[in-house]
Amino acid sequence: MEPGKPLEVSELESPSPRGEEVIVKVTSAGVCHSDLHLWEGGYDMGDGEFLKVTDRGIKYPVTPGHEIAGTVLEAGPDAKGFSKGDPVLIYPWVGCGRCPACREGSENLCDTPGSVGLFLDGGYAELVRVPSYRYLVGIDGIDPDGATSLACAALTAYNSVKKADAASPGFIVVIGAGGLGLMGVQIAKAVTKAKIICVDLDDNKLKMAREMGADFVVNSNVIGSVSAGSGSAAQKIISLCDGKGAESVIDFVNSPQTAQMGLAVLRKRGSLILVGLFGGKMELSLVTIPLKSITIQGAYTGSYSDMKELVELARKGIIKPKITRRYGLDEANEALGDLKARKINGRAVINP
Ligand code: NAD
Repeated sequence: MEPGKPLEVSELESPSPRGEEVIVKVTSAGVCHSDLHLWEGGYDMGDGEFLKVTDRGIKYPVTPGHEIAGTVLEAGPDAKGFSKGDPVLIYPWVGCGRCPACREGSENLCDTPGSVGLFLDGGYAELVRVPSYRYLVGIDGIDPDGATSLACAALTAYNSVKKADAASPGFIVVIGAGGLGLMGVQIAKAVTKAKIICVDLDDNKLKMAREMGADFVVNSNVIGSVSAGSGSAAQKIISLCDGKGAESVIDFVNSPQTAQMGLAVLRKRGSLILVGLFGGKMELSLVTIPLKSITIQGAYTGSYSDMKELVELARKGIIKPKITRRYGLDEANEALGDLKARKINGRAVINP
């Protein structure tokens, strides 16, 4: 993949594993909106500014795909615990192993990340080289297509819901009913006592949010997000929250409109958890933050131990990732094009 250019399938030499490395034969790779940001070359910083992914240290050409399930093809001489044919999920958020975040088990927040599918070649491929067996989790008995979500969409949602959880029971507002948001609805319903309100622009996506367990849905396209006063989505959400507002908002879009709406619907002591990378800038009315004692925080993917917990939740059937579209490797351009055009309802995978 290179920014703005169609993806091409290339024939490469099969990799052989060194040291702790493992070569995984890819069964499925999730199609995440972050693959789109990678394809576009970066992130909207607002006011015409653009943060290039190359400024984060990512080098093109790169094979995208960080949600990867497959089977072990070959393990290096120092790899332990996995044998040829074992079904595995890859933890893609590879860190340096030495910085403070890595030392406390949060490799996803490493100062110098080396994530698979961003910094290292990822799962839109037949084979993937995993830097160590320590980044694998066995998924025996779990559908590999659905398992892909556990490496990013569900993992990020799980981490975000944990940040929101302190404030529940009450109301959690989930903004964006895409790959991440739908997992957010499902996980929030499964692990908190809160009532879940899901907001999107598209009734088909909101219908799916209902199926995933949302107690209420709000279409902010129809009624406007904040600005339309008493008829706005923000007012509608506040009224659904007994007129007081929500304890937590998880914004899986994170654009100026959605973040502004998120702030507007928080009750006193509420938290706004920003997850999406749609980007832009917003103005903040500063006195509101101390007067309402509001917390604004970011969430970036999740830790290896969170992913292991999620695999167990999926094994027990407590969460059920839902895959709604499947593409071949030679249809990767179509998959990303469909995601960009908002034609994918739920999550899609590529099956190489
Ligand atoms: P997606 O394309 O599957 O879903 C996005 C959803 O947001 C769609 O349902 C769309 O209709 C909805 N939406 C768009 N604009 C909206 C608006 N103004 N108001 C309400 N709803 C709106 O995307 P995804 O794969 O779920 O990813 C969502 C975002 O999260 C992307 O920016 C992605 O890069 C980012 N992401 C962040 C992390 C992290 O760790 N922070 C991890 C993975 C993905």
